[in-house]
Amino acid sequence: MAQKYVYFFGPQGTEGDATMKNTLGGKGANLAEMAKLNLPVPSGFTISTEFCTVFFAEGRQFPQSLRDEVAAALAKTEAAMGMKFGDVENPLLLSCRSGARTSMPGMMETVLNVGLCPATIPGLAEKTKNERFVYDAYRRLIMMYSDVVMEKAEDIEPAEGKGIRVQLEHIMAKMKKSKKYASDTDLTAADLKTLCKKFKEKVKEVLGREFPDDPHEQLWGAVGAVFKSWEGRRAVSYRKIEGIPGEWGTACNVQSMVFGNLGDTSATGVAFSRNPATGENKFYGEWLVNAQGEDVVAGIRTPNPLNEETKNPQNQHLKSLQTEWPALYKELDDIRARLERHYHDMQDIEFTIQEGKLYMLQCRNGKRTGTAALNMAMDMLAEGLIDEKTAVTRVQPAQLDELLHPIINPESEKRAEAFLSGLPAGPGGACGKIVFTSVEAVETKKKGEKVILVREETNPEDVEGMRAAEGILTARGGMTSHAALVARGWGKCCIVGAGDMKIDLGVKRMTVGEVKLKEGDLITLNGTKGKAYAGALEMMDATENPRFQGFMKIVDKFRTLGVRTNADTPEDAKVARLFGAEGIGLFRTEHMFYGAGSDEPLFLLRKMILSKTLDERKAALAELFPFVKRSMKGTLEAMDGLPVTMRLLDPPLHEFVPQDPARQKELAASLGIRPFEIKKRGEALHETNPMMGHRGVRLGITYPEVTEMQVRAMFEAAAELKKEGKSPKPELMVPVTCDVRELDVTKVIFDRVKKEVQEQTGVEMHCLYGTMIEIPRACLIADKMAKTAQFFSFGTNDLTQMSFGFSRDDIGSFLHDYLEDNILSADPFQTIDQEGVGQLIQMAVSKGRATRGDLKIGICGEQGGDPASVEFCFRTGLNYVSCSPYRVPIARLAAAQASIKAKK
Ligand code: PEP
Ligand code: MG
Repeated sequence: MAQKYVYFFGPQGTEGDATMKNTLGGKGANLAEMAKLNLPVPSGFTISTEFCTVFFAEGRQFPQSLRDEVAAALAKTEAAMGMKFGDVENPLLLSCRSGARTSMPGMMETVLNVGLCPATIPGLAEKTKNERFVYDAYRRLIMMYSDVVMEKAEDIEPAEGKGIRVQLEHIMAKMKKSKKYASDTDLTAADLKTLCKKFKEKVKEVLGREFPDDPHEQLWGAVGAVFKSWEGRRAVSYRKIEGIPGEWGTACNVQSMVFGNLGDTSATGVAFSRNPATGENKFYGEWLVNAQGEDVVAGIRTPNPLNEETKNPQNQHLKSLQTEWPALYKELDDIRARLERHYHDMQDIEFTIQEGKLYMLQCRNGKRTGTAALNMAMDMLAEGLIDEKTAVTRVQPAQLDELLHPIINPESEKRAEAFLSGLPAGPGGACGKIVFTSVEAVETKKKGEKVILVREETNPEDVEGMRAAEGILTARGGMTSHAALVARGWGKCCIVGAGDMKIDLGVKRMTVGEVKLKEGDLITLNGTKGKAYAGALEMMDATENPRFQGFMKIVDKFRTLGVRTNADTPEDAKVARLFGAEGIGLFRTEHMFYGAGSDEPLFLLRKMILSKTLDERKAALAELFPFVKRSMKGTLEAMDGLPVTMRLLDPPLHEFVPQDPARQKELAASLGIRPFEIKKRGEALHETNPMMGHRGVRLGITYPEVTEMQVRAMFEAAAELKKEGKSPKPELMVPVTCDVRELDVTKVIFDRVKKEVQEQTGVEMHCLYGTMIEIPRACLIADKMAKTAQFFSFGTNDLTQMSFGFSRDDIGSFLHDYLEDNILSADPFQTIDQEGVGQLIQMAVSKGRATRGDLKIGICGEQGGDPASVEFCFRTGLNYVSCSPYRVPIARLAAAQASIKAKK
């Protein structure tokens, strides 16, 4: 039997359900599920995502077997609705909508009112007793179909402003103007009839083809266009950003039309079972009387609020569904409750009311901000709707980032005066330079500058610019407009519907009353309140949130992988502890020579580097010693009771020798030597490839006294802390090793100094001795390395650099091409290359543990805070990951989710 591609849904005999997302797409699977729940869903059928792949493989054709399946499903749909597609007396109209496995808002196509044509118009007009409605539906069909099916799906790329849709809109605007009509609804049946005729003439003129008036031709054209839109430019670029594989394909949902524009007892709306921006447990949505679905999201009319309690300043003068039609509101509210109980998650709903009867057109798990995700998870847990394990999986690790990220400093906001307000569509604060187009947003961001994308309204073509922007500000649109949906999905700061703003794209200027701002001017947005400020306001992090703390406690119940931080100062260590770090996985000793307070130790380090004899060097090291000890002691103290992995000095020495002549002169004067000598020493230390040069353990092999000073500083610091009643837990880590003998030589110093300090202070100390694994050879001989090393920590920055042969400092110049051409699927310096570098890690883990069963293993490269890498580390059996302080909660959540996933 041929493979099944078509699945019916309706009051009897629904063939799919919510578990079939891969086949039916999210929309199709949920329509089937709602039909199974006996909710009022207009009947129809879904052509599967598998067919999408066949469609492209077979040269964009429909095989006869598919046509037969569609005919059978259409017959069932007709029976369920009591109408017939193409019938002259009682015609059924259909919608064709895309629907991939995961939602891609607005990225693919939809065609409504399919089946309307001169043959079916009189019958529908007679049945509805509403000729105006029928011609309005027909003009909408012509507009949509000519745009989506006859132009876009045919890969016709008209010049800016010359697309068929714009040209048709122009004809309509002209007619309205000549008749002095303010709104579309003023157009009479006769006007619309004339308009449809003009539209069809224009379509013929512009596209060189007659508008198809055969219902079946319309249907197949629309179905084809939906499938083709999977490979459309917008969809492809959205997939790239979201990491959605091209092979997934979209499904096509063909569904009976119901009409929200049949007059004043009809309406259409979208709603969320809870507030998607804040998570508040209030039914939240927007609706419009006498409208079709696209009118709500297009931002053309300001939609009405769903109920009284969620009214906002922009819509408070408008009637809510709750007061206007209480019975229908109640029915919808009951469905909301049923859906939440059924799906155990917040639902995003589309509905239509046709002449007083409610229909459900869609439901899906709603996109939400990080704040909302956290609040909903905690609320639903308290309500008993979900268990703790589910709560942990409800927040994406990357969403936590948004909770820990900037808001406008409330103090500085208090002092500032907002010049513009709109709807708070995406939370947090953002500050940047104004740009007015998506292209400029991308270009400016490339130059390393932060931008705010300011648009009349956004459409799906703007995704790349929206992604590049820190924040988005639009003049039009509601909370469910495209800009709002996309921004919220990304947790991006966004204000929509700021209606007082006038944008003049020609001169790249925006005006709000007296305030005029131009491209490049700084602006600050508060996306939580919907306020915009001219200039740059001070930003701050939003951390101490009790909800967040409570959530992280639950997270830790499921986590087995340890999470440490990379920190080199007491301040960073404290922040990381607050975020739940269980120790330091990498203390980079050299960081005391950069930044604030580094003048004196840096001078002494330079003195050491410029010493000509061993004695001179030892003398300089003795002077440097107290600074190193103080730095180590401070951090050990801040992490009291938790392990701190102290790494021996890693970078090559020449990095610390000043390059410019003025600095060289200054240093020479303070050292009492000639500038020439500094230049000479700098040249002698110069390396062509310092990343592979005289660094890490190699320095200690040449200058054992440098290692000795650091080891002594660490032990003395720990001994002093112990005497003060603290419990320091230092661990010594040797960087850039490639052979166990390097470790052995260094271990002799370690053991001797430890013994000396113990004798001198009378304090007994325990300290693990381990190594970084950041050279491929070290992975290959990890069994030998583990003979001496008591722990490994993967330095995946260098390990990636040396495995790929990509310089970690220079990859930026060509990475873009590698990603663009799909040679690499991600930047391996951000997320572990599991296929290649991952193998080295796995090998080192198993070889190392074969030698030393209790070998402690961690990772301290940048990838340690990346959720996918955290999962890999969990699967590979590492004991902990270590990452920057602000990524600690992200790593904790990713680790907990990895455990939960592994147990499934
Ligand atoms: C590494 O190489 O992954 C590492 C953590 O060390 P650094 O970045 O200091 O070279
Ligand atoms: Mg390194």
